[in-house]
Order: sequence, then structure tokens, then C-alpha cells
Amino acid sequence: MSNTRHLFGTNGIRGLANKELTPEMAIRVGYAIGTFFKRGTLIIGYDARTSGPMLTNAVTAGLNATGCNVLLAGMAPTPTLQYAVRHHKPNGAVIVTASHNPPEYNGIKVIGNDGIEISHECEIEIENIYYNQKARLTDWKGIGGTRELPGIIDEYIDAIKKHVNVPEIARRHYRILIDGANSVGSLTGPRLARELGCKVTTLNANIDGTFPGRLPEPRPENLGDLAATVKAVGADVAVAYDGDADRSIFVDEKGSIIMGDQTFALVAKYFLKDNKGEKIVTPVSSSTIIKDIADEYHGHIVWTKIGSVTVAQTMKEQKAKLGGEENGGIFYGPHQPVRDGAMSTALILSIMARAGKKLSTLLGELPQYFIEKAKIECSEELKQKVLERLIKQTEGLKTNTLDGVKIWFKNNSSILIRPSGTEPVYRLYADAKNSREAKQLIKDYSSKLQAIIKNVG
Ligand code: MG
Repeated sequence: MSNTRHLFGTNGIRGLANKELTPEMAIRVGYAIGTFFKRGTLIIGYDARTSGPMLTNAVTAGLNATGCNVLLAGMAPTPTLQYAVRHHKPNGAVIVTASHNPPEYNGIKVIGNDGIEISHECEIEIENIYYNQKARLTDWKGIGGTRELPGIIDEYIDAIKKHVNVPEIARRHYRILIDGANSVGSLTGPRLARELGCKVTTLNANIDGTFPGRLPEPRPENLGDLAATVKAVGADVAVAYDGDADRSIFVDEKGSIIMGDQTFALVAKYFLKDNKGEKIVTPVSSSTIIKDIADEYHGHIVWTKIGSVTVAQTMKEQKAKLGGEENGGIFYGPHQPVRDGAMSTALILSIMARAGKKLSTLLGELPQYFIEKAKIECSEELKQKVLERLIKQTEGLKTNTLDGVKIWFKNNSSILIRPSGTEPVYRLYADAKNSREAKQLIKDYSSKLQAIIKNVG
């Protein structure tokens, strides 16, 4: 029996707490996950949301009912819990988090025994168990137990410190400003920075599930306070995490918010200086800046579809050591091939210390690109037809059709035209060496796309 209902979105199960995602539902999700893992041992943890402990208790009860043993890791960042999986080697983990979504949401992520979110195929298996009543509760003798798993934050911070030159960073006595989004990034970022010898000033570092300081997505419009505080405290660098601290957005000493693409390019540049010929994994939505860096420093880009799980899974398959996304996700494989806000913080500090230059100078040394974005309405029924027509029209150009159509032009500009997975729109992302050209690309391809939509409709 099949169905078209879905529990999982692009990043696990998400919903409004106590409305869509209730304790009853969380118990049943726990049954389904427990049945999928066949009575293994799973770590569970949660971010700072008000609904975190409630939903964690419910999922735990569901897991125990199917015979799974549960290790209670408590409140922690997503990458800390993922590292705990690699370190303690259970069968997997469940993370109760809605990442960057607003405070009223929560979600459930399922992590495999490699510390990476499970594949889409595995999610479909869990959905099948959930919707088709295939969950198997054990008899009373088989019910799983729980025990506390303390110390995962210590282990995680120690692990990160092994990947950077601590004395080299500590010698610089950097002042860092950290915006924890009132969530779990506050539990790791400030402590790590202090252990790297930095003087730490914090913003929104009190844990508060109502997120009073700012929305948990580290977008420029939510980081005004942080950027304004940089100069006031004389910080060398500032960083903001999202709600579960896997993504990080940096601000330089002048108070300029750095695009995720640029941070990734900077990390890739210094990584490739030491690791010639290595692969760099990134979605087709990334700017050409990363390709320029790979060309200049002898790296090899592996393009993927958009989505952090795809990047992580591709890194594993290809044995790649570095991945990155334009939204502030940096995946440092030698530590773990998943997005990790605290690891990214250590990497940026280490690059600054090694080069002995200000962050704004390091960024100024990168190729400069201008990015423009747009969206065009397109109904769900037409999306596929439009894409086929678009691919046909762009034959002969240098394209990649992994996820929408990405076109590279001779003068190093590019455009990605892609149907949104969540809204009835096509999204366009252009980047070019000057803003006029990026704007022109958006203009040209918006009208081409509108003509196609009109034609196939
Ligand atoms: Mg996140």
C-alpha cells in the first residue's frame, strides 16, 4: 500500500508545536523511528525551544515502547549531537529541533550511525511505517530503558580543538562577539572561543525558547544588532548561529555581514593551500566564487542538488573533506562531514591567526561577485514542463541540470533557475563580476522564463 502523504520535508519533520506537532504525534513518530531502528540504542537531544523537553519526552516514550534504549543527551546543538553519535557509536540519534524556523515551530531529525541525517529512502521507510500502522510495540519484557549521557559538549569542544592550531590562535588575543540566537549555540560557541584564547562578548546568549533577541535564522535582516555591536566592543570578528547552531554567519571587524558564499570561499582557499587536488562539495546554488577558488588553488568542485543532507552524503560517498553552502553551512570532514557552527568559528579564527590579517582584508583578497535574486510565480502542475522546455532552450550553453538549470557564461557570470520545493515559484540566482551584469541576467532570464510559463500553460 502506498500513499502520497509525507512526514519529512527537506530537513526532517517540521510543524507548529502543539498544533501540528503534538506529543501524541511525537509518540507515534517515536514508534515509527524505533521500529525502523529495530530495537537499537539512540541518542536524543533538543534545542532551546519551549516545546523541546515535552516533545523529547514523547519521542523517547515512543522509542522505548518499540524496544529502543535511549541515551538522554539534553539540550545541545545539532552538530554536538551528531558528533556524539560518531564518538559513542549508538545506532543513531533523534534531534528535536526546528533549526532556523520561528519559535512556534519544532521538528524531529533522524540521524544514522554515521552522524549524518538519514537518506531520503530511509525517511520514506519511516513514513511507510507511520502511515500504514506498521510500528511494532514490544511485550513488557522488551521495553527499552533510558539513561543520561552527560559530557557531550566537553567531548565536542575537545574534538574541534584538535583540528586547529590553538597556541597560534591564542597568541592573537582576538576579541570575538558571539550571537547565540538565545539558543544552543550559546552552549558551545562562547566556551570554544574562550578555550581558543579569545576575549568573548556575547549577544542573545541567555537560553530562551521564545527567542526574544532575534529570529533564529541568521539572515542579514536579523543581524542588525550584531553588526552594530561589533564596533562598539572593538571585536575582530563576530559570529551568529541559527537555532540549532549548525549554520554560522560572520561579521568582519568593520561591522559588515559576510555572505555565506564568501566565508566558504575563504575556508576553501586556506584548505586547498594545504590540500592540493582535494574535492570541494557544494550545491549548484553556490556562487562562481567557489569555482574560481578551486581553479586557482587546484581543487576539484563536486556540484550537488540543494540540501545539506545531499552535501553530507556526497562528501561521504566521494571521500571529500570540505563542503559548503551559501546559507552559512560549512562541512569540515576531518571533524565531521556535516554543517557545524562551532567548527566553522574555529576555522575562521585559525585562518585569521595564520594569515595575521584582519578579516575584512582576507575577504578583500577573494574574487568579488555580485549576487541578485528573483522569483517568478509558476503553478505546481507546470513546473516540470517548464523545466523540460528550459533545458531544451539552453542546449548548447554550458549548463548543469542537477537541480533546475545552472548556466555558466564566458565572462564568469552564472545563473541558476530552479523550481522551489516549497512554494509555487521558480527562483533565479545570478552572480557576476559587476552588479549591472547580475541584474541584466535576472532581467533576461525572468522574461525568458515568463514566456515559457505562458507557452506551456
Ligand atoms: Mg540549522
